[in-house]
Amino acid sequence: MSDECIFCKINRGEIPSDILYRDEDCFVIRDVAPRAPVHLLVIPTVHFTYLSGLSEEFQPVLGRMFSAAKDMAAREGVVDSGYRLVINQGPDSGQEVPHLHLHVLGGRHLGGMA
Ligand code: AMP
Repeated sequence: MSDECIFCKINRGEIPSDILYRDEDCFVIRDVAPRAPVHLLVIPTVHFTYLSGLSEEFQPVLGRMFSAAKDMAAREGVVDSGYRLVINQGPDSGQEVPHLHLHVLGGRHLGGMA
């Protein structure tokens, strides 16, 4: 947990947000500034910024995040049309929030990779 982290604050209920899904390892919210009709964030409850900061004991958390992303894509109805999973890491990626998270984007043609 980080006192100032916006995603930790959402996790603790200090910032109101509609939690679409939660398990012991992660939770899912809608992105506040969606770049596609479906734009969800899958957020681990443990605070870490980079994959490189993830010790081996937390690797199952990543599996749970991808499983949640897959299930949420189905709930949002974008499995057949397709969707994109994105994890930004560090300055060149444009990462804004220093708490690892998985973007789930879909509902329109997303174009090529940057
Ligand atoms: P990134 O650039 O990968 O760090 O993505 C951070 C994302 O968090 C951005 O797409 C923001 O729009 C989103 N975001 C920031 N604050 C909130 C919030 N309070 N609720 C939902 N999404 C947020």
